[in-house]
Amino acid sequence: LEAKEEFSHKTLAMDVMRPRRNDPPLTVITQDSMTVEDVETIINETTYSGYPVVVSRESQRLVGFVLRRDLIISVENARKKQDGIVSTSIIYFTDHSPPLPPSSPSMLKLRSILDLSPFTVTDQTPMEIVVDIFRKLGLRQCLVTHNGKLLGIITKKDVLKHIAQLANQDPDSILFN
Ligand code: ADP
Repeated sequence: LEAKEEFSHKTLAMDVMRPRRNDPPLTVITQDSMTVEDVETIINETTYSGYPVVVSRESQRLVGFVLRRDLIISVENARKKQDGIVSTSIIYFTDHSPPLPPSSPSMLKLRSILDLSPFTVTDQTPMEIVVDIFRKLGLRQCLVTHNGKLLGIITKKDVLKHIAQLANQDPDSILFN
């Protein structure tokens, strides 16, 4: 038998996070450039429990995390009760509304539903540590970054699947891990 290290391939956060290679990109919301209609489309076309909020698609800088259920309630309420909110209204999560021409429709501020410090790990974090963090902090999800840019997401269910996979590994491969 060779030295253990030669065979062991530690699973890293990047191996467990979504999206996987060749998957469509993460569904994100931008902090001050999406319309009510854009966000309603995301709500209708995906079922994720939450969405990372980023500065812009180009930057992928993480701003926070918004839960799907909070987003649904807030947008529905605004549509019903807030004057001037239409499909083309801009939604913003920033402190101040983005500068728009005076003719633009009313904007919708949703900063109050934004979690400004979602838990994050880097893509190189060993899964052992990620599992430990999920257990100890009772996380539902954790975001994965690389050089400060958002890369992916790991949910509690993703972690549980990872643990189940480890348990089902065939004994031959475990010998070398
Ligand atoms: P669960 O993992 O409990 O089913 P979700 O419905 O939020 O929770 O996520 C389903 C799958 O999609 C998970 O594998 C997760 O990593 C991934 N996922 C979660 N949120 C997003 C998102 N905003 N964009 C892309 N994939 C996501």
